[in-house]
Amino acid sequence: MRLANYRGRATIVIDGFAVDVQQAGAGSLGSDPMLLSDLAHHDALRAIASSARASDWPPLDELHLGAPVPRPPKGFGVALNYRQHAIESGRELPTEPHLFAKTENCVCGPFDEIVVPAGCTHVDYEAELVIVFGRTCKDATRDNAWSFLAGVTAGQDISDRAEQFRLPVKQFTVAKSYDTFGPIGPYLVTADELANPDALALEGRISGEVMQHSNTSDLIFDVPALVVWLSRYITFQPGDLVWTGTPGGVGEARTPQRFLRAGDVVETEIEAIGTMRNPVVEK
Ligand code: ZN
Repeated sequence: MRLANYRGRATIVIDGFAVDVQQAGAGSLGSDPMLLSDLAHHDALRAIASSARASDWPPLDELHLGAPVPRPPKGFGVALNYRQHAIESGRELPTEPHLFAKTENCVCGPFDEIVVPAGCTHVDYEAELVIVFGRTCKDATRDNAWSFLAGVTAGQDISDRAEQFRLPVKQFTVAKSYDTFGPIGPYLVTADELANPDALALEGRISGEVMQHSNTSDLIFDVPALVVWLSRYITFQPGDLVWTGTPGGVGEARTPQRFLRAGDVVETEIEAIGTMRNPVVEK
């Protein structure tokens, strides 16, 4: 299933039409998009998806999509999780995941503005696969890891590199959690919709120019490995997010460096999920 936050309501997208979950479910289900992560495993949602006549519903206009998980209870990002990105950063391949938090306030929609605060000249882009938990999860194993997930979406892990690497303390969490620094979307796609959820092509573009191009099969710690590692320490709940890391081609590693500025449009495309388009503004 392809699930969306459409005009602020939980929606199933079928053949380009927007099926309102609550209206199609005869009122038995709520309309809050936060329910989507909870309901991804729910039989009622699958029943609606299989019985709805898509053309009875309005055609979807992507500009009215919000973040498919607008208020995640918690969020994490993974640093240096693609072989190619670790190499361009001049660092050794990590032996365990390096985690930081991405806080709820940074989440915004797939077509919302990314706001660069005035005076910030080192704001960078990172195209990423984002996993969405759908069940309470603790001590997952590689074999059952995917069963705890509602699905996946695309995301950007925007960073203020000046703050991220400023000594004496490298403030990863702060630098990556400014308001609007975590766009996600356009859809929450359940794993059964994907031929191979561990091998998805992804691409990041700035105003049409390809900056990042890779495949999630290049992840050092793949999705099951991250779920296993994190859930050893932390109990996850529906709606929790993990930005799984970014491939090579980020702005700070380029020659010359390329940071985000007002007027840029950040495009993030993941195979079988879709494309986000976030304009950059300065405020
Ligand atoms: Zn990242």
